[in-house]
Amino acid sequence: MKHAEQVTFGRGGLERAAHLRTDSAALETAWNSPEAQVLLMWRGKPLTLRIAEDGLPCGLGWTAPAHPLAASRQDAAIFLGLAPGGAPCFACDISDWQPQDLDSGALSGFADASEQQHPDLAASHVFAELRRVMTRLTPLEAELAATAKALLAWHRSHRFCAACGAPSSMAQAGWQRICPACKTPHFPRTDPVVIMLITHGDAVLMGRSPGWPEGMYSLLAGFVEPGETLEAAVRRETFEETGVQVGPVSYLSSQPWAFPMSLMFGCAGEALSTKITIDPGEIEDALWVSRQDMMTVFAGDHPVLKPSREGAIAHFLLKNWLADTLD
Ligand SMILES: [Zn+2]
Repeated sequence: MKHAEQVTFGRGGLERAAHLRTDSAALETAWNSPEAQVLLMWRGKPLTLRIAEDGLPCGLGWTAPAHPLAASRQDAAIFLGLAPGGAPCFACDISDWQPQDLDSGALSGFADASEQQHPDLAASHVFAELRRVMTRLTPLEAELAATAKALLAWHRSHRFCAACGAPSSMAQAGWQRICPACKTPHFPRTDPVVIMLITHGDAVLMGRSPGWPEGMYSLLAGFVEPGETLEAAVRRETFEETGVQVGPVSYLSSQPWAFPMSLMFGCAGEALSTKITIDPGEIEDALWVSRQDMMTVFAGDHPVLKPSREGAIAHFLLKNWLADTLD
C-alpha cells in the first residue's frame, strides 16, 4: 500500500539512538544539553499544549530537564531518542501526582475528555488523553507520545521478574528491566493485533463491541495468537466473531497503538461467504455496509451508523478503501 505510512503514528522519523541507552555518560550529557526536552506523562496521558482558540489541546507540552518535576525524576527518565536536528527527548512519569478534585470516572470512560493542569506547570499545558489529541500532533510528536505511553505502561505492569518473582528494576534508559536476584533481562512487549478490511464485492464487514457509543461500528480486530501467521489470525478472528469465511488475505499498513501496547496490522481479506452469525461473547453486532452507505457514514449523514474514530487505523483503511487507494 503506497500510503501505508501516512497512518497516524506513522512516519515519525524519531532517531532512537539505541547505542546511547547503555552509555550513562552520554545520557547525562544529553539530559544536560540545552536542546533536551522532557515529555511529562501522567497516568498514560501526555502533557499537551492547549490552544485557546478552540479549547482543544494541540501539540505536546515540553518541559526542560531542569524543571523540578523532571529533574527530581532523572533516575527514572526514559530516553526516547533524538529528534531530527539532534535534540534529545526524554519522558518522565509523574503518575504519583494526585490532582485536586480529580474526576476518576472520566479517566476510565470510552472517550476521556478531562484535562489535568498541574499547578507547577504553565496554564497552557494540560494532560490529555492521547486518542483525543492524536490527529492534532505532528508525526514526530505522535511517535514520541506513543513510545512514552507504551513503555511506561509496560514498566507499570511488569514490576516483577517473570522468571523468579523478585522486584525488577529499570535498565537501559527505560528499554529493559533487569532482575537483581536472577539477572534475567526483560524487554518491552508489543502485542500484535490484526485489524481487517473484509470485503465482499462492494461491501465491507463492520462490527461493534459492547459499550461503544451508539451507532459506532468499526473493522473487526483481534490478537494474533502464538504460532499463528497474520493471515491465519485474520481468518480465525473473522470466523469466530461473525461466522464469515475469508479467502485471500493481504497486508496493508501497520500502526503502533499504545492502548496499552499493541501493534495493529491492517489487512485486507476477501470474504468467501456473507452469512453473519455473531459470537455474543466477542461482539455485539456485525453487518455488511455498502460503499455508498459508507460514504454517507463518512460524510456524517448516515441516520444510524457513525464513522470509526479518526486517527485509528480502521478509519484510515476505510478512507483509503472509499478513495480506491489501497494499492
Ligand atoms: Zn529474577
